[in-house]
Amino acid sequence: MLKKLLMLLMLWVPVFAVAEPLPVEQIAPGIYVHHGVHRDIDADYGGDICNIGFIVGNKGVAVIDSGGSPRIGAQLREAIRNITQLPIRYVINTHVHPDHVFGNAAFKDDHPVFVGHEKLASAMMQRRDAYLRNQINWVGADAAGSELIPPTLAVHGSQTIDLGGRSLQLTAHAAAHTNNDLTVFDSATATLWTGDLLFVERTPSIDGDLKGWLTVIPQLRSIPAQRAVPGHGPVVADWRSALDDESRYLATLLEDVRAAIKQGKSMEQAIGESTQSEQGRWVLFDIVNRRNIGRVFPELEWE
Ligand SMILES: [Zn+2]
Repeated sequence: MLKKLLMLLMLWVPVFAVAEPLPVEQIAPGIYVHHGVHRDIDADYGGDICNIGFIVGNKGVAVIDSGGSPRIGAQLREAIRNITQLPIRYVINTHVHPDHVFGNAAFKDDHPVFVGHEKLASAMMQRRDAYLRNQINWVGADAAGSELIPPTLAVHGSQTIDLGGRSLQLTAHAAAHTNNDLTVFDSATATLWTGDLLFVERTPSIDGDLKGWLTVIPQLRSIPAQRAVPGHGPVVADWRSALDDESRYLATLLEDVRAAIKQGKSMEQAIGESTQSEQGRWVLFDIVNRRNIGRVFPELEWE
């Protein structure tokens, strides 16, 4: 009986050890993207709501964002292993948000260089307790093994990394979506990974500096990219017009909340009335827009 049980266990172990590979799409030579689903993070979101993926060079692989749980990270790793056996040299995080970074743990045994904005490590430190506490509500049993792994390469300004015959330009931006937004530009294919500096379809969410974001957008425009991988939503060739949409939403938010404050309205009133012209143009609008107003109202009050 015991022997039978042991044999059964041995048969089962590999099933658990090997994660189901995430579906990925090759959007340009050597660039693979997995699209998460548009779901709000607040309750049981499952860890798979943003765009994550990887770039393959001649000598190694760079992961760009790792998903919202170690399981999603392991599934991304499995997708990589289905495509190449080259070493995973870099795990790049575009910013601190949990849906983008909690898969890092799945790559620890690859001993990659973890890469992020110079302010990512301190942002992780500040949020560590809250994120780890919430992770069980966000992803349930997949929270097991979750940890925030800070960058071993902190990017200040601009820096290039080499994957062998392919270089990636990393740019650390001033506070916008968060205070630690990093973009990745692959010059071989003119592909720009924007992280959450660009939202497509999904309502842009603010956790950094609204006015700063409106300043960073024109800087992004000067990058000679032929396509962009946004933080959320489909890959877009016409990424400058996607930036127009985002910029229109953010500018409307700024203008409407400023006007509400000027008219002596309360935050609750502002939440009910502001930015209604953008309703219907974005996914998850009510919940995200409400949060955005709740965040920017108290800041704009002190202008
Ligand atoms: Zn984000």
